[in-house]
Amino acid sequence: MRCSNCYNGELHEERRHKSAEKDGRIAVVTDVPVTVCPSCETVWYDENVAIALDEMLTEMLEHDTMAVRPFSTQTSSAA
Ligand SMILES: [Zn+2]
Repeated sequence: MRCSNCYNGELHEERRHKSAEKDGRIAVVTDVPVTVCPSCETVWYDENVAIALDEMLTEMLEHDTMAVRPFSTQTSSAA
């Protein structure tokens, strides 16, 4: 599949981490499945992944000063 941003790169799937900060707190979710363009470095999140990731980061920022969690743990426990 071609990149819809630069029309140059061939998209491929990768695992990346995603971090968020709020009020001096930091949350990191590792091993997030994403689609990446090697040409322009644009990163796409699947809609379901984006929603789950957002919920995870929000919850983590509410409870911990610093938290790191793998994304796969969240998906397997939710199912
Ligand atoms: Zn691209």
